[in-house]
Amino acid sequence: MKMCKGKNLSIRVNKCYLCDNEDFDIVHEGVRDNQDINVLKCLKCGLVQLDTHKENDYEFYENSGMRKYGDTDFRSVRITAMADDERRFNMFKSSLANKSVLDFGCGAGGFIHRADIICKFVDGIEPEKLMRDQLSKEGVTCFSSSEAAKRAKKKYDIITFFHVIEHLDDPISELRGGTGPA
Ligand SMILES: [Zn+2]
Repeated sequence: MKMCKGKNLSIRVNKCYLCDNEDFDIVHEGVRDNQDINVLKCLKCGLVQLDTHKENDYEFYENSGMRKYGDTDFRSVRITAMADDERRFNMFKSSLANKSVLDFGCGAGGFIHRADIICKFVDGIEPEKLMRDQLSKEGVTCFSSSEAAKRAKKKYDIITFFHVIEHLDDPISELRGGTGPA
C-alpha cells in the first residue's frame, strides 16, 4: 500500500479559519487519536478548531495517512469502530427511518451497514482508497469526495459527519458541495 512518508507535513494553525483572529484558548490538550493535536477556541468568534492540519489533506487521507501508525487492515478498522458506529446509530435512529442518507467520512462503513437496515439507502464519502475499494466490493456506493458525490446528482434527506468536520481544511467549501479532487 502506498504511504505518504515525508510528504504530509503538519502545519500549525495560527489564525482562525473564520475570522483571521490570532488569539485562542486551548480548550482541550490532545485529541483521542493524537496527543500532538490540541483543540482551540477562537477568542473573537468562538469557533472551535484543531490547531494542526496536514500540508496536503486529501492525499494524506486517501493514502491511509490517518492509519500511518495504526491499523491498515480493513476488518480490524471496522471492528475498532463498532462501538462508535453503534452509539451513533442509536443516537440518530429515530431520524433515519426510511431516509436517504449520505455518511461523509464513512471510514470502514460500519455506520452505513448498521443504518442501511432502516434507511431507504445509505451512501458514503470516503477519501481513503483502502476503505472505498472494500466498500465497493460490499455493494456500497462510496464516493471519493464531495465533488464526486455532487456529480452523481443524487438527493439525500440527511448527511452525517461523524468525527469529520474538524479534519476538513476548508469545511465551509465542503458543506457547500466540495472542492476536493474526485
Ligand atoms: Zn474566529
